[in-house]
Amino acid sequence: MTAPIAKLSFWGVRGSTPTVDPATWRYGGNTPCLELIAPDGTQFILDCGTGLRMLGSRWAAPSGGKTPETHIFVTHYHWDHIQGIPFFAPLYVENNEFHFYSFRSKYLGRDSLKQVFEAQMALPYFPVDMSAMSAKRKFKEVEGGDSFQIGENKITARWLNHPQGCLGFRIETPAGTVAYATDNEPGDAKLDESLRELAAGADIFINDAQFTPEQLETTRKGWGHSSWLEGVKVARHTGAKTLVLFHHDPDSTDRMVDSILRQAREEFDSVFAASEGMVITLGAPGDRVQAHMPGTRTALRREAQFNAKVCGVTEGGKDFEEETVVRDLSLQGALISLKHLPRLQSELQVTMEAPGADGVQSMKLRGYVVRIDSGAEKGRIAVGVVFTD
Ligand SMILES: [Zn+2]
Ligand SMILES: [Zn+2]
Repeated sequence: MTAPIAKLSFWGVRGSTPTVDPATWRYGGNTPCLELIAPDGTQFILDCGTGLRMLGSRWAAPSGGKTPETHIFVTHYHWDHIQGIPFFAPLYVENNEFHFYSFRSKYLGRDSLKQVFEAQMALPYFPVDMSAMSAKRKFKEVEGGDSFQIGENKITARWLNHPQGCLGFRIETPAGTVAYATDNEPGDAKLDESLRELAAGADIFINDAQFTPEQLETTRKGWGHSSWLEGVKVARHTGAKTLVLFHHDPDSTDRMVDSILRQAREEFDSVFAASEGMVITLGAPGDRVQAHMPGTRTALRREAQFNAKVCGVTEGGKDFEEETVVRDLSLQGALISLKHLPRLQSELQVTMEAPGADGVQSMKLRGYVVRIDSGAEKGRIAVGVVFTD
């Protein structure tokens, strides 16, 4: 008998609004959407931010396969958690069937989530109306305190502390437990307890880490979000095994998220910063939790053979240094100095040479001119290139 395995994929990790700033590219700019495939094949989707579109486009691919049932949990009705719905292609396919779960909002009344669908697709906000959405949709109201079973999996919902309300979800599968608690501000004794109930002993505890601890105490107090430090405290207190920092601020660059992650790792053993494309496997033999970053998210790659010296930190936390050969290089762009003036937004071919273990290596790349700065150096032009091929 093989061990049951669950797969958790991060399709959107950004809070509040999507970002396309290149400085946020590495962690990703799509708003919240997670997918959990339980060992019994049940597919769970957590939140419907813009990441949902990406999930839908993979789904529509012929090799995508068909899961027996899809259950979609929406934590609350703020834009960043619902704006992917009209762009989720599988909703326009007749044979698909979706079960949606969310709470009755006092602002919307009965069938809150159904109303959200209709409002989002009302003219003139969206070009096609609801009748085009031909997949079967079933809506179920849940509220904090509810607990129910889907297949082999136990779901628990708890209220969190967020303007206009928000639900956190705990999904217990035979391969492990995932607690999803985003959009929550600590400080309300009762709701802090709800959060701890969700996180208790979880294998993966996904927590709102939008702000720094300093911001949370001062300028962002009352905004309904949390920090890495609060996540660490809850994880420690409840025995959650791995903490995932989530709902990154749209103003947080990759470097800022790096720094948040570094601080959290100084305080807690197993922490990841949620990253678009990241996949966490639960229940795999030998190692209960494994995280992967798929190659599809990395930039243009080239085979290479350059000598290199590498300095870093081991899994165990020790510094190391070693000499090696770079075999494969990913490239995004370059700044080059030219005598000629290339046209902005035109194509450019760049051939680079470098001494490697087997003599001089050359690497040919096609790029696209994105920036021209003629004032920097006399008689020369600084040209910004993004490599495309
Ligand atoms: Zn949010
Ligand atoms: Zn929110």
